[in-house]
Amino acid sequence: MIRISDITEKVQSYIPSPDIDLIHRAYVFSAKVHKGQLRLSGEPYLTHPLEVSAILADLRLDEVTVAVGLLHDTVEDTLATEAEISELFGEEVVFLVNAVTKISQITFASHEEKQAENFRKMLLAMAKDIRVILIKLADRLHNMRTLEYLSREKQIRIAQETMDIYAPFANRLGIAKVKSELEDLALKYLEPEVYAELSRKVTEGVRQRQGIIDEAIKIIQAKLKEYNTEGIVSGRTKHLYSIYQKMKRKGISFDEVFDLMGIRIITNNVRDCYAALGLMHSIWPPLPGEFDDYIAMPKPNMYQSLHTVVIGPGGHPLEIQIRTYDMHRTAEEGIAAHWRYKERDKLDKSYDERFVWLRQLMEWQQDLKDPSEFLHMMKVDLFHDEVFVFTPKGKVMSFPQDATAIDFAYAIHTEVGHHCVGAKVNGRMVPLRYRLKTGDIVEIITSPNHHPSRDWLKIVKTTRAIQRIKRWLKTEEKERCLALGREILDKELAKYGLSYLKLQKKGDLLKVANRFGLVDTDELMVDIAYGKISARQVLSEILPQETLQLKSEPSKLKKVINKITQRKGEGVKIKGVDDVMARFAKCCNPVPGDKIVGFITRGRGVSVHRANCPNVDPFLYGTERLIEATWDVQEDVPYQVEINVRCADKPGMLAKITAAISEASINIITADVKTGRDASARCRFTLEITNLKQLEKVINSIKMIRDVIEVERASSYLSKNKMEPHASPTRIIG
Ligand code: MN
Repeated sequence: MIRISDITEKVQSYIPSPDIDLIHRAYVFSAKVHKGQLRLSGEPYLTHPLEVSAILADLRLDEVTVAVGLLHDTVEDTLATEAEISELFGEEVVFLVNAVTKISQITFASHEEKQAENFRKMLLAMAKDIRVILIKLADRLHNMRTLEYLSREKQIRIAQETMDIYAPFANRLGIAKVKSELEDLALKYLEPEVYAELSRKVTEGVRQRQGIIDEAIKIIQAKLKEYNTEGIVSGRTKHLYSIYQKMKRKGISFDEVFDLMGIRIITNNVRDCYAALGLMHSIWPPLPGEFDDYIAMPKPNMYQSLHTVVIGPGGHPLEIQIRTYDMHRTAEEGIAAHWRYKERDKLDKSYDERFVWLRQLMEWQQDLKDPSEFLHMMKVDLFHDEVFVFTPKGKVMSFPQDATAIDFAYAIHTEVGHHCVGAKVNGRMVPLRYRLKTGDIVEIITSPNHHPSRDWLKIVKTTRAIQRIKRWLKTEEKERCLALGREILDKELAKYGLSYLKLQKKGDLLKVANRFGLVDTDELMVDIAYGKISARQVLSEILPQETLQLKSEPSKLKKVINKITQRKGEGVKIKGVDDVMARFAKCCNPVPGDKIVGFITRGRGVSVHRANCPNVDPFLYGTERLIEATWDVQEDVPYQVEINVRCADKPGMLAKITAAISEASINIITADVKTGRDASARCRFTLEITNLKQLEKVINSIKMIRDVIEVERASSYLSKNKMEPHASPTRIIG
């Protein structure tokens, strides 16, 4: 068991005159309240806070953080109270203990909304004090180290959460030390076989590789000495998870990963980095395309280094990283290295400059009301790889992988984004969807008459662009809705000799709006445009019932409409809306049993889609216009469904397929067979089914037939004649 003196010694090694008393008091308190508690490993519980505190001391954090490491579980797991800790240790400590406790209570449930909410909480905690997340990472690291004592089920859940959330966070904060260990431990529990295999292979070849590395180190040391360049040369090993990632990413075998081991040179200053690089290239030829200058272009997590790959001793490719001592600390400890213990309340300036992404996330989380949208952004920003491009003036800008010219335009200025029509990349014209590559010099071409389109949302990658485009679309849509709502209402009013303007002047419309719980008439117009409120509902608030009934539309008209809209929303319930026009969307043709959702169209009521239909994608269209819809089919109502079958063009195939359909007691309405040039046949059947299960069953049984290549559901519609389920009116039961 680690001792408290080990921890205080560590702290003394990097803080000139530390508040050792604080750490001691925290230790005594923690030991007292955790007394008698055991971990699942059988060890005294106190080992956990001690280890966490030691990890924090390894990250060279201040005394308060190290002390909170000792206290972090006291409020949650012992009888100790907030008041007690506050009295003994002060506000700063109690704030941190509470924040860490709160994060621990969040479980990252698989449910997307909940997960987004948790991210948000974590960010908020981080925003107040970055030490919160550092303590949480240390806590998680020790828990991962001791994960073997938990049940398999818990191991998997915790390991997955570590891989999904904590490791990316550690990476984003630049704490490579913690990130690598978290990833390796998570891999061990998530993919035990892979982990075992990789560790075996790494150990097997280690002696041979070490030989090569030792030889290279000797050569390098001699060369540096010869040219009076100071530098510490060492070997470094790639961690298992990053080997695994590389194998998966590049589709290569273990033996093809050449940088299992590499060389690291740590120099005193930047000039020596470049000098050392030159020397390396003079000993061994560099591999083209493998040189990266992260000193001139640091990664967003502050990482700086020169990377090169040379053809080393014995013709083996050898990766060499060159950096200064400061850069090395930043690479290993990230934000922790920049958190100066002397300025407890603020981080140093480079934090502010380099961790732009963190600041942006904070801003976004305030802006984004929709959790799933936030989660999407979060993932993009947490996991992306970077490309670096230049403005015509030579300014470097970084973007996520696959970012487009539109992203670039929005990064320059919102107005440039709104009006961009094309781009010049390295002097050549490219379309807006062009994906940026590192090294590109990008210039945006704008036109005052050009505006954003919804399609842009499908290709842009940066949060900034997505947000600006959405905001623009929203404003524009609201304007169109206002005009449409007014038009609809005006027409209806005209029938009774009323005018919109007069009613508006008298304040009557505002009264109506208020009665519907709306703030102003604008909102009323928008709701009319979307069909949430009908013009007749508005009229009934203005005119006496008798006047209205006198001129009420003949039901004949409704019948005509029914005929035109081929298939209406019978058998569907739309949540909270009564008497709304609903129809099935033609794009996806839902059938009872499908998960469905209502989409409020502008002035055309609700269209009912399959929940996974791309035309109701909440990311593109937002969630405001979605409305819950459920099936309300009492009896089995026949629906027509089309299926496409692709099969080998052989005799007897059609007979086999139709037999399978008949066996399922399904009627075939139409059948259409075409033979293709590729010795295959395409059959299209219209079937009469009563529910989705029946359809799935028959599709599966067709799939089982030999020589059938593919079966898929095409589209479906409800026949308006003989199969109309019941002669019910178009009204939807709310
Ligand atoms: Mn803990």
